[in-house]
Amino acid sequence: MTTLLQNDQFRLAARPVGLPKPSDWNAVNEPVRAIADGEIVVKTLYLSLDPAMRGWMNEGKSYIRPVAIGEVMRAGGVGVVVASKSPKFAVGDHVSGGIGVQTYWVGAADDKTANFYRIDPRVAPLTTWLNTLGMPGMTAYFGLLDVGQPKAGETVVVSGAAGAVGQTVGQVARHLGCRVVGIAGGKDKCDFVVNELGFDACIDYKNGDVREGLKQHCPNGVDVYFDNVGGDILDTVLTRINMKARIVICGAISQYNNTTPVKGPANYLSLLVNRARMEGIVVFDYAPRYKDGVAALAKWMQEGSFKSREDVVKGFDNFPDALLMLFEGKNFGKLVLQVAEA
Ligand code: NAP
Repeated sequence: MTTLLQNDQFRLAARPVGLPKPSDWNAVNEPVRAIADGEIVVKTLYLSLDPAMRGWMNEGKSYIRPVAIGEVMRAGGVGVVVASKSPKFAVGDHVSGGIGVQTYWVGAADDKTANFYRIDPRVAPLTTWLNTLGMPGMTAYFGLLDVGQPKAGETVVVSGAAGAVGQTVGQVARHLGCRVVGIAGGKDKCDFVVNELGFDACIDYKNGDVREGLKQHCPNGVDVYFDNVGGDILDTVLTRINMKARIVICGAISQYNNTTPVKGPANYLSLLVNRARMEGIVVFDYAPRYKDGVAALAKWMQEGSFKSREDVVKGFDNFPDALLMLFEGKNFGKLVLQVAEA
């Protein structure tokens, strides 16, 4: 049966300079091969489009090896098992894992790179398994709790506030009894995080002054800053931190497409003055604890006190353009590409 299936793929054709362009991709189609004992075929339903994908396209040392030229682009995703010769998964199981930018994944059910695990669509919609109950949610949950270590009554500021990671950071901090201030681009996103997600305030960095906004909305200073964007916003928040503040370095999307060196924080001596610390987080380190994070967030969602917003773009062929939305702030919530009907 599977040999009749056709697998559409986007493979990396060239390492981008600045924003990825169409010629950096190679669209390929190949038949899905027959499977051997222990193998499965997963049909891709949704792909997770992540800012980190831009970094994976670069050469050089990072927390994960670069995608090789000619290789299927790395991506997380959720899919359904359509063929199985493994006792681990049955046909019809919904799974999440490293599917790659392709319409079918074929290989060993216990493949360590894809690392598929079963997900339950009755707990939450499939797209939420790529957001709050998936990698961005785990980043937010463990990054905030383990590195940010917020306490009730403290002020937590998060950039990229309406995005995948940011929306969960703010809602977890709110659940802990913190004052939560977001930073996001545009009135709609700011209104959303305040009115829908319950943040105390949001600073629209595209239409206002971040320093003034911090003065106004963080009258007691900043205890935790969860940084998703880097650049000028990080530098500005550094001027408003409190004694013993914690800055979680989660990402620096403002810098990912630079053709010049990454701009570091000029105001880093504020860490010295305030005996503060700045610490990076990589979500994969928390894989052994994901089930705890999923349980906590799913419980809040089921109680109705936690929201998960995804922005779904339809059509596999739209992958190159959809990815760019992240760097233009055109996504509103976790960006997901729908590849097939669930
Ligand atoms: P996202 O926030 O859903 O989408 C990206 C958002 O970044 C855009 O919607 C845009 O929002 C904002 N943005 C884009 N260019 C910007 C710029 N020049 N300056 C300021 N903001 C800009 O993405 P996400 O998946 O949640 O990822 C957020 C950050 O977390 C990224 O830096 C990502 O690399 C990082 N991350 C890290 C880990 C880890 O393990 N360390 C894991 C997951 C994600 P606005 O419209 O508000 O500008």
